[in-house]
This record gives sequence, structure tokens and C-alpha cells, in this order.
Amino acid sequence: MKTKSIEKILQPIRHHWVGDGFRVNNFFPSNYGISMERMSPFLLLDYASKHHFPPSDTPKGVGVHPHRGFETVTIAYKGSVQHHDSTGAGGIIGEGDVQWMTAANGILHKEYHEKEWSKQGGIFQMVQLWVNLPATYKMSKPKYQAIENHSMSKYELENNKGVIEIIAGEYKGLKSNTFTFSPIHLFNAKLNKKAEVTFNFPTNYNTALLVIEGEIIINKEEQALSDHFVLMKNDGEEFSITATENSIVLIMSGQDLNEPIASYGPFVMNTREELVTAFDDFNNGKFGYLED
Ligand code: MN
Repeated sequence: MKTKSIEKILQPIRHHWVGDGFRVNNFFPSNYGISMERMSPFLLLDYASKHHFPPSDTPKGVGVHPHRGFETVTIAYKGSVQHHDSTGAGGIIGEGDVQWMTAANGILHKEYHEKEWSKQGGIFQMVQLWVNLPATYKMSKPKYQAIENHSMSKYELENNKGVIEIIAGEYKGLKSNTFTFSPIHLFNAKLNKKAEVTFNFPTNYNTALLVIEGEIIINKEEQALSDHFVLMKNDGEEFSITATENSIVLIMSGQDLNEPIASYGPFVMNTREELVTAFDDFNNGKFGYLED
């Protein structure tokens, strides 16, 4: 089997704020020359590395904003995220949990630190990953999948090496219950020091890693430290990760949708025309209403 090798390893050096609650490093598509097409079906990765927030009675976060044409996947590693949307839905993404939101034809929402967590303050760490929808599903109805940690499929590695939490897709025959519109694998590899594991995805699947915790060596040759992003080449199927500390690694791999992408801010469609329609619909209140 051919090895999937490393294309580049990126440092988290370009933070910006999303609202006042999310201090993120955008690994794609903005800062490092990795386009939405290159990572398809993944569109955007915002990583809020560990940041301490002092106690606040008013939860910090980002106010009302729309999305159309894709899905947002929010993974809470430390701290807790609350959300609220124009369909009346809302909820809490607790530590270790994942929310898979299909924005599809349109939603207005706000995202902020969970109220009680905000009062205490503490270290906050999360990921938001945007996943594109195939053209045929872009205007389908919005929905949520709340993927609580206890309900995730978990592959226990032998010899106390750790566990692979399967947020979506499949690892060594163990499947997740998460519904995806195109083939996607998304894992949290929670590895004990010295553990070595292998991953295997089709050569043409766009694949990347994010080191959430600890430090690792990939393919027994290159080291990636905490908070670093690793883009893999589409030149083979298999790669290995060796944890040199207790580590958590977010692993994403997916099949290219191979459809044109037209994006502007919170809208990701296939054509310019559909973007204009998205703006018109938004301005005409077709995304519903949500109080700030
Ligand atoms: Mn949002």
C-alpha cells in the first residue's frame, strides 16, 4: 500500500476574532493558500486554540448571522458553546461533544459561550469546520445532529494505546451514526504516549490533521506540535501517527465533490447567480427572524 505523504505543516500564527468569543486561526481557505477546492468537501477550518476567558455575566460570542449552502461542524474540546437559531432551535455543545448543523437553504443563528460556563470563565478550545453540500442538497431543509460524546462510536485501540472517536465515517470497520451527504471521515484520535496508529483513506480523498493536544510524528519522519495543521498529499492511502506525548489529533478526510464553488462570507453556492439570490433572500427576511 502506498504511503500518503505530508504536503505541508502549518503554524497557528494568524489569529483573528469571530465576535468577542472565538479567537481563531483560520487554516483554510484564507491565510495559507489552501483553497476550498483543494480541501473539498471541507470549506473552512477555524481553530480556537486554548485561550483563557475571565468570568463574564454576559456570554461572549458572535451575534446573529446567516448561513446557506453547507454544514457547520462545531467540536468543543474545552468549554461549552450555546446556540440559538431562527427556527426556534437551540442547544448546548458540551465539552467533548460535536454539533453537526446542516444550514442548507438558510438559517440565522448566534453562537456564544454557554451561560453557566461563561460565569465561571476558564480555558476555551474548539473547532469549527464547514462542510460543503452537493448542489442537489444546498436548498434542502436545515437540520441538526447533536453528537454527544457518550453516543459516539469509539474504536478502542489494543494495548491501551488509546481510542479513536468516530465523529463521522468509519475506522477499521466501526461506523459512526452521523449522516453525511458525501463520503467523509472525521475522527478524534486520542492517543497515549508512544502509541502508533495507522489510517487509510482513498488516495484522492482530501486529508488533513490538526494537533489539538500533545505532539506527534507522522510517517515516522516529521514532527507536528500542538495547534499545528498538517495537509496530506493525494499521493497514497496510508499514513501513520506516533504520539510522543499523550495527544489528541483531529483527522479529516473526504471525497472531492467536484462541483463549482461560489462563495461569499456565510454563503457557499455553485454559481454567482445563486449567491445574489442568497443575498436577496437574506435581505428580504426569507431566513426568518432572530433577536440579537
Ligand atoms: Mn455560524
